[in-house]
Amino acid sequence: MSAGPFFDREAETAPREVLKARQLDRVRKIIAVAFERSPFYQRKYRAAGLSSAEDVRSLDDLHYLPFTTKDELVADHEEHPPFGSRMTEPRERYIRLHQTSGTSGKPLRILDTEESWQWFVRGWGYVYNAAGVGATDRVFAAFSFGPFIGFWAGFEGAAHVGALRIPGGGQTTGQRIQQIFDLGATVLICTPTYALRMADTAREMGVDLRASPIRIGIHAGEPGASIPSTRARLEQAWGMEVFDHPGMTEVGAWGFECREHAGVHLNEAECLFEVLDPATGDPGDEGELVITTLGRFAHPNIRYRTGDRVHVLRDPCGCGRTFYRLDGGVIGRIDDMLIVRGVNVFPSAIENIVRRFDGVHEFVVEVYRDREMDEMEIKVEATAEDLAALLQAIQNEVHLRMGFRPIVSAAPAGTLPRFELKARRVLDRRQ
Ligand SMILES: [Zn+2]
Repeated sequence: MSAGPFFDREAETAPREVLKARQLDRVRKIIAVAFERSPFYQRKYRAAGLSSAEDVRSLDDLHYLPFTTKDELVADHEEHPPFGSRMTEPRERYIRLHQTSGTSGKPLRILDTEESWQWFVRGWGYVYNAAGVGATDRVFAAFSFGPFIGFWAGFEGAAHVGALRIPGGGQTTGQRIQQIFDLGATVLICTPTYALRMADTAREMGVDLRASPIRIGIHAGEPGASIPSTRARLEQAWGMEVFDHPGMTEVGAWGFECREHAGVHLNEAECLFEVLDPATGDPGDEGELVITTLGRFAHPNIRYRTGDRVHVLRDPCGCGRTFYRLDGGVIGRIDDMLIVRGVNVFPSAIENIVRRFDGVHEFVVEVYRDREMDEMEIKVEATAEDLAALLQAIQNEVHLRMGFRPIVSAAPAGTLPRFELKARRVLDRRQ
């Protein structure tokens, strides 16, 4: 498999010690800017007893700095409406507003200056190059162009490879499918859930997406493209090569997948990453991902607790990049892990099982308590000649893999929620 082009070959293949020296240099710069100009970080660091950025002499010293959490940013927004107090530049220098989806709490509003926005967009330059997207490609953004940042940056970032950008907002799913054929779009950017929804709609329209000009799908907003059975479904429905791209409104476009498809690369040229055991806070191979941005000076994020659970791989990748990788991308949210009858269950693990079955269109999972016992019910929208047999097979597979037997029931066609962004398919009703 070809490694594909690089966005910045020198940075992406730099020896680890060179990479680390650059990270230290840049992290000190961003801490200095935050300390001097961000009211939010000034309060935070003074309270922590930090007198200046000079106190950080090595990457290990970073451990003495307090984390930045989503709860803190939400509280800061409430105290300093409407944008919070994290910015480092005079207000008139900010030119873009985006906000988080608000799926895990109140939305955060993030302002960027031209420079900080271009830093975010550049993150997509790595994404596209690693996927082998180039100037002859036509990128279709199946996205409503609302306040969510991801595909705005994806749309603009395609300029870094000279591709033609096609905005797919303000259209029905059917119209988007038609546009893809009419305009010869070769790259699809959207959430994995939405790409599957388009596949459902195409089936209803009698359109075979494998005959479409789309050759590459880049999927962000949810971890689905790294879930093996969801990826297989995307590849099968569209006949395309699938790439996962994790990013965060608050942080940036921090990860990308190369053509080796060996996990998701951390973009260590643009961010500094820590993986910490959520219970002890000690560094490790598996745990919560903590990110410090090394650019976006106008809206810095230092030691941000993402809430994402990851497993880091440190061995070299076949593509030649020295950036570490995440095995299977983002495994799940730290706080999304359910304990059902004593078994640790990640929503992504259930998705991986359910999506393996042909005929499943959509599903939701509810966990509740019945006579002191945890019950998991999986409601499935599916078409099958023998629906009962399909439900039985899903039940058996969950039982085999998870060690408990869920209730699996059929939901009438079109009754389960459809998502364009941030699918929430698992409901814990025990709380
Ligand atoms: Zn690679």
